[in-house]
Amino acid sequence: MQKVKMPARDPNIRKKDFKQVNYGYSQCEMLKEAKRCMQCKKPLCIHGCPIGINIPKFIRYLAQNDHKRAAIVLRQKNNLPAVCGRVCQQENQCEKFCILAKRNESVSIGSLERYAADVTAIENSLSSITISKNGIKVAIIGSGPAGLTCGGDLLKMGYDVTVYESLHDAGGVLRYGIPEFRLPKYVLDLELYSLKKLGMKIILNTLIGRTKTVKELFGEEYKALFIATGAGLPVFPKIPGENLNHVYSANEFLVRVHLMHSFNFPHYDTPIYKARNVVVIGGGNTAIDAARTALRLGAESVKVVYRRTENEMPARKEEQVHAKEEGVEFVTLTSPVKFIGNEKRFVKAVECMKIEVGEIDNLGKKYLSKIIGSNYIIETDMVVLALGLNPNPILPSLIEGLIIDNHGHIVTDDSFMTPLPGIFAGGDIVCGTNVIKAMEMGKKAAKAIERYLKKSSK
Ligand SMILES: Cc1cc2nc3c(=O)[nH]c(=O)nc-3n(C[C@H](O)[C@H](O)[C@H](O)COP(=O)(O)OP(=O)(O)OC[C@H]3O[C@@H](n4cnc5c(N)ncnc54)[C@H](O)[C@@H]3O)c2cc1C
Repeated sequence: MQKVKMPARDPNIRKKDFKQVNYGYSQCEMLKEAKRCMQCKKPLCIHGCPIGINIPKFIRYLAQNDHKRAAIVLRQKNNLPAVCGRVCQQENQCEKFCILAKRNESVSIGSLERYAADVTAIENSLSSITISKNGIKVAIIGSGPAGLTCGGDLLKMGYDVTVYESLHDAGGVLRYGIPEFRLPKYVLDLELYSLKKLGMKIILNTLIGRTKTVKELFGEEYKALFIATGAGLPVFPKIPGENLNHVYSANEFLVRVHLMHSFNFPHYDTPIYKARNVVVIGGGNTAIDAARTALRLGAESVKVVYRRTENEMPARKEEQVHAKEEGVEFVTLTSPVKFIGNEKRFVKAVECMKIEVGEIDNLGKKYLSKIIGSNYIIETDMVVLALGLNPNPILPSLIEGLIIDNHGHIVTDDSFMTPLPGIFAGGDIVCGTNVIKAMEMGKKAAKAIERYLKKSSK
């Protein structure tokens, strides 16, 4: 039986608004897809899930149309299932190990996860779970997937958890980076609501290190801290013209649009330039999100310039397909060498060079070299740079005794403990990855925090 395709909105209509692209399975589609699962005796998909969800079990319940039980299985391991069902790179994780993947037709585990989470979201947020509290306080710094997962697991173990967030809204990249058309904010709000009902306190507008120090947190009787401050520091290409007007970092661009609602200017305060011809540099999720966002702001042409081939783009495959359907053009094996401005210092063109792919280098990636004399010009009135993000440096630089590697990551042991007693760290601040890997680190850290607190109370 063939995989049931995730139904999506017409590209010509959806590219003009920020509403969700994928509809989600209907009950009938869900049943058809769930019944494709072979219920393997030795299910490899579980090993492909960084947080170890019992995938065959939740799918078995779905196949019996018992979405309540399916959701219970999911939520045992996952504090953010509706988020993961939408943004996880399933094709490189659980679905890659599905026995049906050999025929390129793995079970759509992500779409089924989304179904089970969505149909139970309201009842889950209204239901109350009784947890016996132990009164021990733990502070989480940063409200992205790593922080929310660590905090959620500690709550379930009985700890008193407070999450501190520097921005005016919680969720980290899930809030300010990933666009509404991929992850509607009501979905995130429902997940946050469930965590708050479990007892999570979320304190916004508080930059730990500046508004409040780590020493002050320990003074407030927190017995352990989990640093999950993420990676929000944009990487720049270090080429001429990167300081021209209308050359944005993807982070600034996406934050202005999605967190500050700049597309609603003048109803909101932070404006954004609405460009006609946009060039996005990069090939990851951030680049594709920026390109599709630019399209929705009214751009007539959006080009994604990437130095490797399309197959090597790190962005989720589904997003690449959706971007192309919407009219985003991929210019591959190409690298920018200069941004050219007009007399008022506004960008008007990107000078690019074609790239030649060579042998595999010692990092396992194909060696790239610029082809001499291949320079050409792409005209543009806005450039968005999506070349990667480095860890947020503020807090690590303010905690004496932390070990920081050359890339700015906090160094921890295998259980995500730093050399400082009671201070743990995880997510992109430790190792830049993705949502589910950040959650995996949050989960492991929660277990380590419990071990540490039990040991130190003896
Ligand atoms: C545009 C974009 C799209 C992406 N798309 C995907 C995708 O489709 N799938 C996927 O798997 N991954 C995706 N990723 C990657 C993924 O979002 C990150 O790996 C993940 O969010 C990391 O989680 P985190 O909890 O470590 O940090 P973050 O999500 O970055 O959260 C960190 C939080 O800490 C707060 N903070 C920072 N410093 C302080 C401080 N001193 N005090 C208090 N709070 C502080 C920040 O404001 C932020 O809210 C995407 C990333 C981007 C940028």
